[in-house]
Amino acid sequence: MHRATKIVSTIGPASSDLDTLTRMIKAGVDVVRLNFSHGSAQDHIDRANLVRQAAENCGREIAIMADLQGPKIRVGKFENGKIQLEAGQKFTLDAACAIGNEERVGLDYKELPRDLRPADVLLLNDGLIVLVVDKVVGSAIHTTVRIGGELSNNKGINREGGGLSAPALTAKDMEDIKTAMALRADYVAVSFPKSATDMVMARQLANIAGEAHTHKPLMIAKIERAEAIPALQEILDASDGIMVARGDLAVEVGNAAVPALQKRMIRMARASNKLAITATQMMESMIFNAVPTRAEVSDVANAVLDGTDAVMTSAETASGKYPVETVATMAAVCMEAEKSEVVKLDADFMNVTFTRIDQSIAYGALFTAHHLKVKAIVALTESGSTALWMSRHNIDIPIIALTPSVATERKASLYRNVKTLELAQSTDREEVLKAAENLLVEKGLAKHGDTIVMTWGEPMGQVGGTNALKIMKIGEY
Ligand code: PGA
Ligand code: MN
Repeated sequence: MHRATKIVSTIGPASSDLDTLTRMIKAGVDVVRLNFSHGSAQDHIDRANLVRQAAENCGREIAIMADLQGPKIRVGKFENGKIQLEAGQKFTLDAACAIGNEERVGLDYKELPRDLRPADVLLLNDGLIVLVVDKVVGSAIHTTVRIGGELSNNKGINREGGGLSAPALTAKDMEDIKTAMALRADYVAVSFPKSATDMVMARQLANIAGEAHTHKPLMIAKIERAEAIPALQEILDASDGIMVARGDLAVEVGNAAVPALQKRMIRMARASNKLAITATQMMESMIFNAVPTRAEVSDVANAVLDGTDAVMTSAETASGKYPVETVATMAAVCMEAEKSEVVKLDADFMNVTFTRIDQSIAYGALFTAHHLKVKAIVALTESGSTALWMSRHNIDIPIIALTPSVATERKASLYRNVKTLELAQSTDREEVLKAAENLLVEKGLAKHGDTIVMTWGEPMGQVGGTNALKIMKIGEY
């Protein structure tokens, strides 16, 4: 059965062995996320090798996403690992404090005191602990605890409403980009970008580091800062996709604002010919339980209906008890939700002016496929761009991208409703079309007599320029 929505899974201690990874990929993982907030460069390289090996065991290509830590602001460590904070008590965040206790704790971002004013609200540990700033004296931020709880080593800090000035790319991120290129990460996710400039800079660094490996990644902007919302269009224009990073975003803009923002972000991404990933707490209770809550099932299904390219797992698969079950459950929920998807292609193209030839062919193929009710839409593509254009619209017919490029095959594993297969390149059109047909039949994607729509670029064997469309019956070509 064809599943359109893709699954991005974070791996960690619970999933970094060949057997678990292989089972996760069989259960439905399309993209593996390496979280650079944890682990050494060597850990990530080892994990990437395991992922490639597991994918090979499964006979398919999957993408690797390197997720940079970014300027996440964190408290330091405590003498005893953690403390208990009570509402009403005083507590100090002090950039000059080396080791924390019941009264104060250090900060990894030494500039934080300069960004804060009395009455600012600080949210710690994903908003579970709330502090209100009384005053800032030198390196010390004096606060009163509004909501208490357990605070342990290195928990994150956000300011309600955003506006902290830490730059998007830290020195660690710049080093990590090099590691990511060495392990040929197909995607690089940038944490906490505020503007297009942050993304442009990250892409430049990745391209420079990638040169030595003849590798160019796609760039994902994690939307998790309040300031990124008004800058969304410019960030999209500078990126290949966005992540609806609901964890940090909810802390900055308030929980209640996130569902509507998710819908808007996904809509804007698709309209801009970019990718969207919906992330964080999607199957949170499966960290401990073998089945999700009803609310989690609805959350995943609703992200599918919003049009997300992929749903993502974090701790569920990195450190949870049920990594394989989480992926299998998500896959099943996605497929059910896709059945109720409304296809309104004609409305998508009403009053639209096409600006490019490849875009026109892509949309022409969709329109024809929809009204002729063909078996599959097949795009012969070097870069994958035709498949990307096509996949920005809902259609209940699979898009099959055939490419000679392994890099394209890996990248396109994130594209909604796109299945990618490798097909050798040739400059002989008749030969390529015949080989494409054979491959579809061999893989069980079409059978003798089925009608398909196929697109390609002529002359054949060159990058870019899809300009041809053919409606054909399998076996009669
Ligand atoms: P993180 O990003 O898991 O790296 O924090 C996702 C989010 O904030 O939702
Ligand atoms: Mn985050």
